Amino acid sequence: MQLPKTLTEVKNFINGKFVDSVSKATIQVLSPIDGKVISSVALSVQKDVDNAVQLAKSAFQDWAGKTLKERTQIFFKYRQLLEEHMDELASIIKIENGKTIDEARAEVAKAIELCEFCVSMPQIIGNEVQEVSKGVECRLEKKPLGVVASITPFNFPNMVPHWTVPNALVLGNTMVLKPSEVVPLSAVKMAELLKEAGLPDGVFNVVNGGKEAVEAICDHPDIKAVSFVGSTSVAKIVYKRSTSSLKRCVALGGAKNHLLVLPDAHPQMAASNILASMSGCAGQRCMAASVMVGVDKVQHIIDLMVEEAKQLIPGKSLGTVISADAKARIERYITQAEENGVKILLDGRKTIVKGKEGGFYVGATILDFVTPDMAAAQDEIFGPVLSIIRAKNIDEAIVIENNSNYGNAAAVFTQNGSMAKLVMDRASAGMIGVNIGVPVPREPFSFGGWNESKFGAGDITGKSSIEFWTQNKKTSIKWSPEAKTNWMS
Ligand code: NAD
Repeated sequence: MQLPKTLTEVKNFINGKFVDSVSKATIQVLSPIDGKVISSVALSVQKDVDNAVQLAKSAFQDWAGKTLKERTQIFFKYRQLLEEHMDELASIIKIENGKTIDEARAEVAKAIELCEFCVSMPQIIGNEVQEVSKGVECRLEKKPLGVVASITPFNFPNMVPHWTVPNALVLGNTMVLKPSEVVPLSAVKMAELLKEAGLPDGVFNVVNGGKEAVEAICDHPDIKAVSFVGSTSVAKIVYKRSTSSLKRCVALGGAKNHLLVLPDAHPQMAASNILASMSGCAGQRCMAASVMVGVDKVQHIIDLMVEEAKQLIPGKSLGTVISADAKARIERYITQAEENGVKILLDGRKTIVKGKEGGFYVGATILDFVTPDMAAAQDEIFGPVLSIIRAKNIDEAIVIENNSNYGNAAAVFTQNGSMAKLVMDRASAGMIGVNIGVPVPREPFSFGGWNESKFGAGDITGKSSIEFWTQNKKTSIKWSPEAKTNWMS
């Protein structure tokens, strides 16, 4: 795909125009498919964030003054544009992130679904009115906050910004998006298509860069709310820094998801689901299976899974990891596990794809007889690596899951309803799957984990996000003097 100049020199998008950063500093963007430079991206400083915030602030009054139905009309059109540009958007994701084209298309399909949720806002926003005393009416309206911000990671360059942008904007806020500097191209198309859909200038702005831009967002006095998605270490920094400057913040972090597999699980369904969960997007999903806890006799399921995993072909059905550093880190975990005596059932180290020798490929890797104290059992590896821990019974398996610092997702594979219910009740995670390896709740259900996988109240999508992006205005009204009620009556 031949990239246009807007994508080979990624600038900031402020007040409806692409502009250089104040310092004009840039960094290179590589494609993980072959390791070659595809673009450069602006590195923003505090002044760039401030420029964007001031213009977003100027745009706020008009935008918030429109009716909810008027604002949703733009997102009906935008949703249509996403569909029309599906191939182009998916190709951009593939080039910058390295996932397969089918995975990239699925990402855009999910972004479309997120827009479908946001256009349903007039039906579900839930403003209330009630006659609370004779002749006295109370009404509660959900009002936008003002300028808000969204900071996003590399692994879903198109979908994760759609977790926040459509809902925040439809609810009347104006926004600054800070995409991952590793994958800044998708946000350029997002800005172009939102403008084409009729979004007024200044309502949606993109400020590119890294740490410095994020810190400026956390500290800016005119930003009212910050949503963050990324690693736990940065989520903690962003949460602490934003809330200490008196903003509301929801910060989603990393994950180490456990899949508990019982002997009565449907063998083929379990094997295929676990494999898809650990290898999809090359394991770079916060919902990926990272640990399989095999309860009692599950060798037949493991054997099926390993046979199926051998069919995954890097460069075809398995995409890349994001960088040379990520590849080296993942391979270090595998080597360390090997040194600790685990059994390597499938080894994805040293994977090279012919014709794409510079690409960052790691083959599917399955480690057996991992013990709960090992790094392979505890750390987020974020690659196509599955650690299998053996447990004697379901209680032992649940203890292993509960001991993780994270808590994004957990799943159980069984045909026994009471065993499934036990895991549903006792797993310490925000999103639970029963015979589902990637238990992403679909709209209108909300997305968000527990423990060190999320900081802040509420979730980031779905109905829960309505509370996050709005504040309640309560008005008490009396028109009739005959009502003879005072304020306490
Ligand atoms: P990351 O934390 O390195 O980066 C996320 C964002 O923070 C980026 O925009 C980046 O520019 C910025 N950033 C990086 N270092 C910073 C610092 N020191 N100070 C301030 N800002 C900084 O995450 P990533 O590598 O882009 O994404 C992968 C991580 O995201 C994984 O841990 C994954 O589990 C997590 N993730 C979580 C969810 C979820 O829903 N919980 C979803 C997607 C990804």
